[in-house]
Amino acid sequence: YINQCRRLHLLRNQAYVNGEWVKAKSNLVFAVHNPADDSVVAEVPDMDSKDAQNALLTASNAFQTWKDTTAKERSRILRRWFDLCEKNTDNLAEVITAESGKPLAEAKGEVAYGNSFLEWFADSARHINGEIIPSPWPNKQILLTRNPLGVVSVITPWNFPFAMITRKVGALMAAGCTCVIKPSEDTPLSALAAVELAHQAGVPKGVVNVVTTSRKNAPTVGKVMCEDEYVRCISFTGSTTVGKILYGLAAKGIKRVALELGGNAPFIVFPSADIDHAVDQAMLAKFRNNGQACIGANRFLIHEIVFDDFVKKFKARIEKKCVLGPGTKEGVTCGPLINNEQAKKVSGLVDDAVAKGAKVLSGGKFAKNLGNKFYESTLLVDVNQDMQIFKEEVFGPVATCIKMKSEEEALKMANSTRSGLAAYIFTKDLGQAFRMSKNLEFGMVAINDGILSAAEPAFGGVKESGIGREGSLHGAVEYTDLKYTLMSGL
Ligand code: ADP
Repeated sequence: YINQCRRLHLLRNQAYVNGEWVKAKSNLVFAVHNPADDSVVAEVPDMDSKDAQNALLTASNAFQTWKDTTAKERSRILRRWFDLCEKNTDNLAEVITAESGKPLAEAKGEVAYGNSFLEWFADSARHINGEIIPSPWPNKQILLTRNPLGVVSVITPWNFPFAMITRKVGALMAAGCTCVIKPSEDTPLSALAAVELAHQAGVPKGVVNVVTTSRKNAPTVGKVMCEDEYVRCISFTGSTTVGKILYGLAAKGIKRVALELGGNAPFIVFPSADIDHAVDQAMLAKFRNNGQACIGANRFLIHEIVFDDFVKKFKARIEKKCVLGPGTKEGVTCGPLINNEQAKKVSGLVDDAVAKGAKVLSGGKFAKNLGNKFYESTLLVDVNQDMQIFKEEVFGPVATCIKMKSEEEALKMANSTRSGLAAYIFTKDLGQAFRMSKNLEFGMVAINDGILSAAEPAFGGVKESGIGREGSLHGAVEYTDLKYTLMSGL
């Protein structure tokens, strides 16, 4: 443990409030484990609702000055934070791998991706414009200005423990808001590493605060973060179940919500598609972060004409490319699942599917000798809509292939879910691409690609996948209110 602390330059084991590293008032701590070997990476404060209230008050005080900074000033500070994160890519990646388990190369990818939001919002800060609208009355003018909301409660998951923070905090800071972040109990260290660099970048005290809590305290801290009088917005990324709880709590105080919840992405391949390319992209859409991504492909709907070809090539590629092991080991492409609950959930979904007639072509079990969180990259066929795995987000390295016969059938199956985050289509038929994109009930559609997220487009879902958009200029505008001022007597 001590060795690891020494190696991880950006390891911080205290919470961050009002520009200072602090303990919980209770002095309690909880352990953060490395999912690869269950070792303790660090212990961090187990804060409670009182600590959260204090942090929210701090953010509220900081808002009084931060809201009056110029967009140019905020842009410069964000840019400095971006520069420092870029310089510290390796240090950040090591922390991400130590607590999330993902391979180092992927962790570096996450830093680049997460950091692109800081860069983007450093630019966007200066483009959050108002409007002047021709008035229906003589001698009067209508002004619409965009004002920052105030204090934002940021609650984030473990799968992209750095990027899910920069994506929200970059946007809200650009808009002129302040925040309290409650990172996932599985991965608080990436959040603390990120704010260490924010501190070095000169982010004023109180603008960004981090409150760490154990899973046990998450509901009470979450309640305060949704209900406290200082909070104007709750920005959450995580499961649909928790999202619904927070939405309910936010309703009491008519707080704004930004919710990025679960997905159940279809990956649809039509006969005209380039199958080799579709298989390449399927590997990215499915096995990135070992399947633990809300936009990860969850259901492969493959046209019967190309089904056998696709499945044969997909199986070969999985068996060649997926190398399971600890994220720090050279050559590893798939790490452990984050915790025992996730591991049980993934294996349970596969077992249920197999019991109902699905066939395992690859994997389908835990890897021998690697412990209980390493699940083999798995390919299932003969999957049908009665199986739990069709309805639920797997959040693990399991690809399920389902045969379909027509565009109509594919569309019907794809839309038969309460989620609506990302969808992937492979076709060379232009009309089909447009029709599918129009009719898929999803917030994001990729045609002939397996990766679609970046800082520039608007990320977000429809139906039970969430409310609001992240990234793009819309991502910053989410954190503003439109104010109407009437200038009369002109
Ligand atoms: P995941 O499957 O990504 O862990 P969760 O929705 O369980 O998704 O967790 C996402 C975030 O929500 C984490 O920071 C977690 O601590 C937090 N969380 C879980 N339950 C609650 C709750 N009742 N109130 C507030 N936050 C919660």
